[in-house]
Amino acid sequence: MRGRSAHSRSGSISSRPAEVLRLEASFQAARRSRIVCRCALLWTSERPTTESGALVSKLETVVKDIVDEMRGRPHRGEVASYIPELARADPKAFGLVVVDADGHVVAAGDADTPFSIQSISKVFTLTLALGKIGDRLWTRVGREPSGSRFNSIVQLEYERGIPRNPFINAGAIAVTDAIVAGHQPREALGEILRFMRFVAADDTIVIDDAVAASEQRTGFRNVALANYMKSFGVIENPVEFTLGVYFHHCAIAMSCRQLAMAGRFLAHFGHNPSTVLPVATPERARRINALMLTCGHYDGSGEFAYRVGLPGKSGVGGGILAIAPGKASIAVWSPGLDASGNSQLGQLALERLSKRMEWSIFGA
Ligand code: GLN
Repeated sequence: MRGRSAHSRSGSISSRPAEVLRLEASFQAARRSRIVCRCALLWTSERPTTESGALVSKLETVVKDIVDEMRGRPHRGEVASYIPELARADPKAFGLVVVDADGHVVAAGDADTPFSIQSISKVFTLTLALGKIGDRLWTRVGREPSGSRFNSIVQLEYERGIPRNPFINAGAIAVTDAIVAGHQPREALGEILRFMRFVAADDTIVIDDAVAASEQRTGFRNVALANYMKSFGVIENPVEFTLGVYFHHCAIAMSCRQLAMAGRFLAHFGHNPSTVLPVATPERARRINALMLTCGHYDGSGEFAYRVGLPGKSGVGGGILAIAPGKASIAVWSPGLDASGNSQLGQLALERLSKRMEWSIFGA
């Protein structure tokens, strides 16, 4: 992963598609307007209207109740250990943050403790890759639920090296390869990290190098998946470049508060309230939400839709980003996982939240 600075530019201006230029203009505008927007956010937080004030106080009660309930739960699932560094997480940790449509932030529990976002990063790399190459991405990765584990190998053989969807490991590696696209790994990684900081409006977000190195040492399955795809021409860059970037973006560390902020553009039809220009078109945000709903929890996606009824994306670090379209961006974290690799209490907490707030996209 050595090379030029993570902040160096990743290509000449003239060779970049219009959408990437638009995104970069939006980055710059966001930087300029951040101070003003932060003030605006504070202002709205302090002066809610009567109606939104009632909603916020209900939300505060619900979030507090959920955190109290989850703290006392004895069965919390198993902390992931196949990436050795992840096994260090405290199984008792629990955080929940909701950012509503008016920018009110309701937080409880370990809301500001950074954790490894792992596969939640795949939502953001998908957004970035679609911004760079648009629908051409879909020649390299499908959009169907997999019904198998996140690191399954068998399916790739049946489907001649084209991964089922962008959220299983193989699909996310193919998406990362589209972002690398001939650049140095460090440049591609810098672009991903800048994008995360931009959507979260938070320049303090960093990569946990110990987690990245731990997965780089032990990620043999991902090496197998990437090499298998390479044999079909689905991976275009050197496998070690693409995997290096993949392992590092999975190792981005964020708190529930940062993650909920980062998801706002998906809750608001592609528009991030703290930036002048949209992050994605409304159509693209809607489609990313659709993929999160159908594929975001691997072979547990049906169960998540049934119980929670919201687009969501889990990671083996125990985090889940969930979106209540038009209403809220939600991040929850509890490191213990169920058999499908999804946060056990995170799912339960979201089930409680969507029920009490009546946020399921399928109705109350
Ligand atoms: N980096 C992890 C892996 O590739 C991500 C898996 C996950 O969060 N589901 O195995």
